[in-house]
Amino acid sequence: MNQPVLRISRTQLIKNITAVQNRLAPSTLMLIMKDDAYGHGIDMVADVAQRQAGVSLFGGYDIATSLQIRSRVEPSSRVFAWATSDSDEVEQALRAGVDLGVGTLPYLHRVIAAASITGVTAKVHLKIDTGLRRNGVRSEDWPEFVAQAIAAQHAGSIEIAGVWSHLAEASDADDDLAAEEFRAAVEMLRRAGAHPTDLHLTASAASWWRPELRGSVSRVGAFCYGIRSADGPELEGIRPIAALTAPVIGVDGDRAVIGIGAFDGLPSTLSGIEIGTTAGNRQLQRIGVTTSELAAWPGATVGDDVWIFGPGHHGEHSATTLAESIDTVGEEIITRLTSRVRRVIGD
Ligand SMILES: *Cc1c(COP(=O)(O)O)cnc(C)c1O
Repeated sequence: MNQPVLRISRTQLIKNITAVQNRLAPSTLMLIMKDDAYGHGIDMVADVAQRQAGVSLFGGYDIATSLQIRSRVEPSSRVFAWATSDSDEVEQALRAGVDLGVGTLPYLHRVIAAASITGVTAKVHLKIDTGLRRNGVRSEDWPEFVAQAIAAQHAGSIEIAGVWSHLAEASDADDDLAAEEFRAAVEMLRRAGAHPTDLHLTASAASWWRPELRGSVSRVGAFCYGIRSADGPELEGIRPIAALTAPVIGVDGDRAVIGIGAFDGLPSTLSGIEIGTTAGNRQLQRIGVTTSELAAWPGATVGDDVWIFGPGHHGEHSATTLAESIDTVGEEIITRLTSRVRRVIGD
């Protein structure tokens, strides 16, 4: 029991997902589950989201993650993988019924080839680049891309299920322009004879704050896990779902040694933060490899827990406030926690 523990609240996860769904409606939530469901564990999140929050659309980033989600959720649910991959994986994805994001012509050709080998019609979501210059078809290349995709749809190799892009979220004005480009790209595709039903452009922040930019689908990760934007406002109905504790493993005069360190994924730049103890906050003085030290408190005993972050206790309120103190984002703190940190699922 010398290990740190990440305690995850199933009930709060359900509440967050429900709050996001209500906020987005009638846009459908695609629950993003990359990086092992943002460090919370794919299997648990998939089970809870599907059975208790009615989620039927999931996003896994890469094909390996998406296959794991696919094997966990109902056949009628849909899973979307958008990382470009090799032919072997694409064939596996098609056999398993995973939707694919396609943002380059060579990848479109690979997907068409995999469809012909497997005999499965590939469900694809075409990606237009709306300014981020990150894997997506530039507007000048869109007409040719659309022409080839339509031809492949006529041939039965693919079904154009969606169109998507990613927003920079640097400024509202830039995002407005990106949304314009997105709508024009969808329009061109429709005029060419396709009827994509899944139109998705926004992630957590824009989905929540910019209803006019939402498509029929919204890809949301962070907010469902209770991770708000760094320096962003609190969100109605959304709370952190995870608390990170570490055990006291030694008391040496005025120092308490706790069983968590850089190997567990605790960034060493966090030294100096206040963490919660049963006697109130204490400063984390040193972060070592597998242990760290803080000022002891009267009665500090081996086996006591301290709270690095988490709701309902002293110390930092959430991974996001912790992240803000070192200029990063909350998901970075949780996804960096290694498998040495035991995940415990509770109500
Ligand atoms: C990670 C990711 C999302 C989700 O972003 P959040 O801010 O965590 O909601 C959406 N779309 C894509 C393409 C992503 O990579």
